[in-house]
This record gives sequence, C-alpha cells and structure tokens, in this order.
Amino acid sequence: STRIDIDLGAILHNAKVLRAVAGDKHVMAVVKADAYGHGSVPVATHIESAVDAFAVALIEEAVTLRDADVTKPILVLEGPHCAADLALCVHLNIWPTLHRADQLAWCHALTEKPAQVWLKIDTGMHRLGFQPAQAQSISQQLKADGIKTVVAMSHLAAAETPDSDLSIAQKTTWDAATTNWEGETSLHNSAATLLATPARSVWARIGYALYGGQIEGHEPNARLKPAMTLASSVLATRRIAQGDSVGYGGRWTAGRESVIATVPVGYGDGYPWAAADGTPVAIGEHLVPLAGRVSMDMITIDVTDCGEISHDMPVTLWGNQPHVDTVARHAGTIGYELMTRLT
Ligand SMILES: *Cc1c(COP(=O)(O)O)cnc(C)c1O
Repeated sequence: STRIDIDLGAILHNAKVLRAVAGDKHVMAVVKADAYGHGSVPVATHIESAVDAFAVALIEEAVTLRDADVTKPILVLEGPHCAADLALCVHLNIWPTLHRADQLAWCHALTEKPAQVWLKIDTGMHRLGFQPAQAQSISQQLKADGIKTVVAMSHLAAAETPDSDLSIAQKTTWDAATTNWEGETSLHNSAATLLATPARSVWARIGYALYGGQIEGHEPNARLKPAMTLASSVLATRRIAQGDSVGYGGRWTAGRESVIATVPVGYGDGYPWAAADGTPVAIGEHLVPLAGRVSMDMITIDVTDCGEISHDMPVTLWGNQPHVDTVARHAGTIGYELMTRLT
C-alpha cells in the first residue's frame, strides 16, 4: 500500500500562483533531480504552457525532456561537462550555463554557436561561476564570437534571509556586476521570488515552491499546494504495557499502556532514518507521533489516543498534513532532500 501520489494539478496551480507573485519576471521551472522527485517528464509536459522555460542540472536531463517532446527552452545549470555536451546543446536548442574557462574555449571553437548562453557569476556562494569583475569582458567576447544573447546569472546562498550579511554582500556584488548589463539577468530562486527580494532578476528560477515547498523561517504561503503525498496503511497493531520499549535500541518507551501501529514504510523507501520520536504521522483524522527508530521497511506510531484502529487504515507520511517541511525539521534535514530521495 505504500506509494507516492503526485498531484500534477497542484503543480500547475502553484506555477500560476508563482507567476502572479513573480510579476513581470519570466518564470523558469526548475525540474532537476527528476523534478525534485515528482517526475520530470510528466511535470514538464503538464506545466509547459504555464512557464517560460525549464532548468535542469545535467544535459542528460535536458535530452530526456526533448525526447518527450518538450519544446520550451531548457537551461542546463551545471553547463557542459565536455565539448560534445556543448555541441548537443546547439543541436537540441538547449541553453548552456557557462561558468568555467574551458567551457568558453569550447564555445569559441564551435562553428555553429548556441543562440543563448547563461553566464554564471560567483557573487559569494563560491560553488560555480566567474569572478564578478570578469563578467562584462567575457560577455563581450561571447558576443564578438556570434552569440546573440548572454544572460547574467548568479545564485543566493541564503535567499531565506535577505537581510543577512551574506545576502547583502551578494546583492551588492551582483548589483555592481550587472550595472549596464546588456541583456537579461537572473538571480531569484523560490525564496527570493516569494520574498520579493529587491535585486535585478528578469528571470526567476523556481523549483521548491513549484512543488508546494515553503521557505524556511517564514509564514507558509497558503496558496501553494503540496504536490507530493507519501502514503501507506496500517500493517499491524498491538497493545503494550507501560515501560515496554518499541523498535531498534528500545529508543521509545511507553509512558502508559499504549497501542502501537506498524506501517510498512521505512528508510529503504526514503522515509528518513533520522526522524525523531514525535515526528507527526497522519492516520485518519489524527496526527500521531512516531514511536521508535525507523526500520528499513517499517515504522511504528503511537495510536493510543485514536480509538479503534483497523488494519489497512490509511496513513499519510507527508502531503497536505503533515507537511514535508515539518517532517524534515523532525529529521534534521530539509524537505528538498525528502522529496528527491524517495526510492
Ligand atoms: C536548484 C536551483 C534553483 C531552484 O532553487 P529553489 O530553491 O528550489 O527554487 C535555482 N537556481 C539554481 C542555480 C539552482 O541550482
């Protein structure tokens, strides 16, 4: 009975909400990592008419979308890993990100150039990109080589906290690098879009919010609908005495006579092993606490206060209730990880 339900209608709804939030920005739907675990082909084909472009991490992911007849532009965030990747980008009308000197050399050597490239500028994340001071001259070289459109892009390391020192430093660097930039710009991710962070960003690159993910540390946006439900049902129940422990290592001990339900989902399915006792699980109308360590294929929950519990009663691990971000907090991780690593 354990399954993932994906509500494509919710993703389309979120895309429309986010387009309205983004105002006059172009909306790029980020569908890397199999659309954050939601299925890149079904997601992209379902929302294609509601967005302006897609982004993936790897060229292989872009080829998969082209093979599925997705025709909107696709940006490859990691850029080409070799010269052949870049030639494939030209052939399939895929926009490469350029962040490294040898990618520029491959581009220079091509006879047929990509129509558009995105130039990654390292404004402080220190993961990918050129030095801000180099950006203008690289852009001019690319244009001299025959590339018509060069989009300036960078990524915020702490978009959830726009007033942090790190964000302010990045915005200052970005502002200096893109003053008088001839062409489009892109800085915003989900959090920067939802928080309307004031900075140059003609394009918004939106991933997590599209799937109903919320921004850490902020009031949830009630209009965004969670698209993924991880569901299961009760496999067995038992009554245990006060003082009995449950599961590996006996981590959870019953403070009273208790009823325990066992649910056939575990870390082998992608439910986090690190989930603490008390992590909420929905059963019928109730939210009940996880009780005991997560096993490979099973979890145990405390259903003492739920009245009659029958076998096969539906259980929700995350979805509308509890939200994936809540489960993630109880497991010391982020909802992004829970969504993307289901097996
Ligand atoms: C993944 C990614 C995004 C999307 O970020 P969200 O927080 O999911 O909106 C945007 N830009 C880059 C460069 C990324 O790697």
